[in-house]
Amino acid sequence: MTGTAGHEELPVAARVRRLEERVIAAGLATDDELDEVLAGLFADASPVNGARIVARAWTDPAFRERLLADGNAAAAELGFAVSGYRLRVVANTTQSHNLLVCTLCSCYPVSLLGPSPSWYKSFAYRARAVREPRAVLSEFGVRLPEGVEISVWDASAETRYLVLPNRPAGTEGLAEDELARHVTRNGLIGTATV
Ligand code: FE
Repeated sequence: MTGTAGHEELPVAARVRRLEERVIAAGLATDDELDEVLAGLFADASPVNGARIVARAWTDPAFRERLLADGNAAAAELGFAVSGYRLRVVANTTQSHNLLVCTLCSCYPVSLLGPSPSWYKSFAYRARAVREPRAVLSEFGVRLPEGVEISVWDASAETRYLVLPNRPAGTEGLAEDELARHVTRNGLIGTATV
């Protein structure tokens, strides 16, 4: 890289650091404050959280109703404080499958899904998820039966989504914590069936 490299040519980490330096120089926050916010954001962020919500919804129909009506309030019932945006939970059925994307950048409920995978942030995924969801899904190994409709949800800073997958067959006898272990991060995004 030359000394005249434009901002847009720098790696993301370097661009973020430049932004942080400007925030600090402007007196808006200190380095320590920024570190604290990031540590708090990622400390408890894990797809295990989203999986717990799904397992509860599978075992408790009343919770499922509340979850679909108001994701933030239902998440709070399980101790997950989801704030700063509206959480909308979209449920798969035998007739429909849901897929999440942020066409603009990479909006995503980090606290419930963990840091977003690089493919979620990639231009290819963001461009193709809406245009050819069935092809994208097949690349993830998801082949839906004919007639299953795919809904693609475009997240934003204000509204973010979580997929409620179908409960797999053969899990009837399982307890909630065992069920949660069946749920994957990709299942919560819609690039896996569970
Ligand atoms: Fe985004």
